[in-house]
Amino acid sequence: MRFDYDDGNIFAKILRGEIPNKTFLETEHTLAFEDIAPQAPVHMLVIPKGAYVSYDHFARDASDAEIIDFNRTVAAVCEKAGVEEGFRAITNARAHGVQEVPHFHVHILGGRPLGRMLERG
Ligand code: 5GP
Repeated sequence: MRFDYDDGNIFAKILRGEIPNKTFLETEHTLAFEDIAPQAPVHMLVIPKGAYVSYDHFARDASDAEIIDFNRTVAAVCEKAGVEEGFRAITNARAHGVQEVPHFHVHILGGRPLGRMLERG
């Protein structure tokens, strides 16, 4: 599979500092910030700083250092956000996944019961 990264996407602009964000955590390879339209009391987005379109792109092509840093940041976000009672990590990809922003990101949602994972249909 070929992944074509479009650096005009909104998260690329956030990473370049062209538009503001509410940063929650930042590391060498990873940024976590609040979703602009939260769907739960906790709704964070965790993104790599590298140019990856989707989870499968990141998991295939990112360096070990980037992958470790990303996953450790997810854990740190969960701890800092206080989601001891549970959370959901979601990553959407391409058309069937209904991905809106073509820069890999994981949603961390929590702070209330989240219901079942998927609706039928
Ligand atoms: P996707 O559908 O691609 O998985 O999710 C994209 C997410 O990015 C959505 O939850 C949307 O609310 C969020 N989002 C879109 N534009 C911005 C923005 O400019 N700033 C922030 N913080 N979040 C955004």
